[in-house]
Amino acid sequence: MIFNLEAIPWTELDRLDRSQALVMIPLSPIEEHGPHLPLGTDIIAAADIAAQAAARLNDEDPQRPVVLSPALPLGCAAITADFPGTLSLRGSTLRAVVCDICRAWVGHGFKNLLICNHHLDPVHMKAILSAIRLNECNLFAYAVIDHDIRY
Ligand SMILES: [Zn+2]
Repeated sequence: MIFNLEAIPWTELDRLDRSQALVMIPLSPIEEHGPHLPLGTDIIAAADIAAQAAARLNDEDPQRPVVLSPALPLGCAAITADFPGTLSLRGSTLRAVVCDICRAWVGHGFKNLLICNHHLDPVHMKAILSAIRLNECNLFAYAVIDHDIRY
């Protein structure tokens, strides 16, 4: 079953089997993608990938809870930082945010976390991977491009 974190009360989340639940966290920056695409291209795609992957997982195992965490429009995009609208974080900032989010989930007993990313800036990827190494949980991170879903 799929649970949209923003739409459920904490009591519903509290009833889930934390050892089986998979929390999906869409994460990608707001940045330029040429003159024809929206600044939210990466985070829109990351959220869509999370939703599609959640639907597939639900088809395969409807008993396993899948929690869709709110999409985080954050990331490191120094290469495109000069374009109006690109909102780039420092790697240390992103690492701290990812660490805090993961620690919060782990603190609530959820250990299966999946970061759904749609942005491959090396600083961005390094920050996520560094955050994962700091957390003692079954945290997966996957770079996904062009809706090539793998899990
Ligand atoms: Zn990008």
